[in-house]
Amino acid sequence: MAAIDMKNIVKKYGDGFPAVNDVSIDVQDGEFMILVGPSGCGKSTLLRMIVGLEDITSGDMVIGDRKVNDLAPKDRNLAMVFQNYALYPHLTVYENIAFPLRLAKTDDKTVDEKVRAASKTLELDEHLDRKPANLSGGQRQRVAMGRAIVRDADAFLFDEPLSNLDAKLRGQMRSEIARLQKKLGITTVYVTHDQTEAMTLGDRVAVLKRGILQQLATPRELYDNPGNLFVAGFIGSPPMNFLPAKVEGTSVELPFGKVEISAEKAERAAGRGLLIAGIRPESFEDASVVDASRKGSTFRAKIDVVEWLGNTAYAYIPFEAPPEVLEQLQQLERDLDGETLRTQLVVSLDGSSRVAEGDDAEIWVDTSKMHLFDPATGENLT
Ligand code: ATP
Repeated sequence: MAAIDMKNIVKKYGDGFPAVNDVSIDVQDGEFMILVGPSGCGKSTLLRMIVGLEDITSGDMVIGDRKVNDLAPKDRNLAMVFQNYALYPHLTVYENIAFPLRLAKTDDKTVDEKVRAASKTLELDEHLDRKPANLSGGQRQRVAMGRAIVRDADAFLFDEPLSNLDAKLRGQMRSEIARLQKKLGITTVYVTHDQTEAMTLGDRVAVLKRGILQQLATPRELYDNPGNLFVAGFIGSPPMNFLPAKVEGTSVELPFGKVEISAEKAERAAGRGLLIAGIRPESFEDASVVDASRKGSTFRAKIDVVEWLGNTAYAYIPFEAPPEVLEQLQQLERDLDGETLRTQLVVSLDGSSRVAEGDDAEIWVDTSKMHLFDPATGENLT
């Protein structure tokens, strides 16, 4: 196994905008690293540069203690697991797993030992005589991983392995990959555009936008402390709400009225004029079901729509934003490949709430969870 150290990696195709622009990511030995971002952010290009399928324009790619910039893919000792698993339909599970060893002209005894050991780890030992067509999606995925294991590869690389599957199977395979990666403890780099996959699989997640690394952090850190508006909007479902906000002293004027924030937060956002407040749906609640001892602010708002889901409900409250905030939110939507402009507040309520459509409801908000973003740079000031 090995660490993968990407240092100031740049990739230019022709003389256009760099597809990957000065990206540095240190994947630790045994770590599960996710590269995530919307279409065209450069995540696949970055993965292809790790494997050696793409030249590096500048910067250093270091695997273990070797700089591999000029090393052929076959000499990098990495195992790529593809979307369709690239299994040979006419070969048995045994021969599919053995394939790289046969290519390397390994003797039969060693092949047998390695295939049996890998299939035991992957719980495939009962299916060694089957053909891929007679396996479940999960089993096929394991065969593909088995092929990587017998090679004693230094790292696994996945490029959107689950994107062709339906939602249920995707969920199952996700937990399967997570379980196997932990069991094998093998350094893994995994590309996806799906933030849920990124959050549930990654030890750490690298968020990319137009070739530039936006933030490299644990899923929790990305969720709780997004570095900028883009990361805040990309991570989380339903997404974070963005509202125009004016800070005066320790009070913040939102479209629904004033709420109070801590002096510490207020200081960091002082003297900045109009800002964008970011508040996740779950930081709100129906004020009537909140314990009176919980710290927070309340405001009244007219409820447009309520979606009741049993243990939770989403209430939608439209608001108006001034042009300078709208412009920034429109740009954000384009960056996120979004379709609709979020000019309605989404509030997550406890399932026991009786708030209904058309109500003028009292809504509670935990302002300690409020972020304040600079509308010009998108930077999180808090
Ligand atoms: P997707 O999820 O759509 O695959 P991605 O985030 O993986 O996107 P890349 O495929 O790495 O993005 O592409 C990054 C940028 O580089 C895009 O603007 C793309 O058009 C461009 N690009 C990728 N491959 C080439 C190529 N061979 N020649 C020219 N431009 C390319």
